[in-house]
Amino acid sequence: MYTGPLRALIDELGRLPGVGPKSAQRIAFHLLKVPTEDALRLSDAIVSVKERTTLCSRCFNVAEGGALCAVCSDDRREGTVVCVVEDPRDIVAVERTQQFSGRYHVLQGALNPLEGVGPEQLRVKELLERVEAEGIKEIILCTNPNLEGEATAMYLARLLGPLEIRVTRIASGLPVGGDLEYADELTLGRAIEGRRDL
Ligand SMILES: [Zn+2]
Repeated sequence: MYTGPLRALIDELGRLPGVGPKSAQRIAFHLLKVPTEDALRLSDAIVSVKERTTLCSRCFNVAEGGALCAVCSDDRREGTVVCVVEDPRDIVAVERTQQFSGRYHVLQGALNPLEGVGPEQLRVKELLERVEAEGIKEIILCTNPNLEGEATAMYLARLLGPLEIRVTRIASGLPVGGDLEYADELTLGRAIEGRRDL
């Protein structure tokens, strides 16, 4: 129905998560209508985030320009307790609870054999290296309370078992099958507080 740049924009918008063909069309026409500088702010933001955002070399959280992330570069954080999460968005969820003052480790996913995600695709080796290098005393497994998240937690617990550190799992009570990022801070805060030893 559309051709040229408008068609290209609708196609690109339609590839975004949660944006169907109708929304893609609506957003494209909205951008067509707004003042040029408003539309360019969006394109600038996309360019900047791609050019300047990197992963923290220590924990794989998002960081800016190759530096350590905001958590890792904060000296007040407890360096010996590490919360293992699947995704940088989970860090935001845990931070909102104000129940955790340690550092993080972002796996960049969860085990999912059907989709070809094994330990090699995740930042597992890096986690093991950190335990010794940073003198970590406790690892809190804070993966999602769904099938993949539980399998990942169990896998890591077995792997970390022989090391002389405390390995804990956030308490159940979170909505099963859900994602951490959708848990309210009170529930997630309690799950962290009530974590159990594995
Ligand atoms: Zn970091």
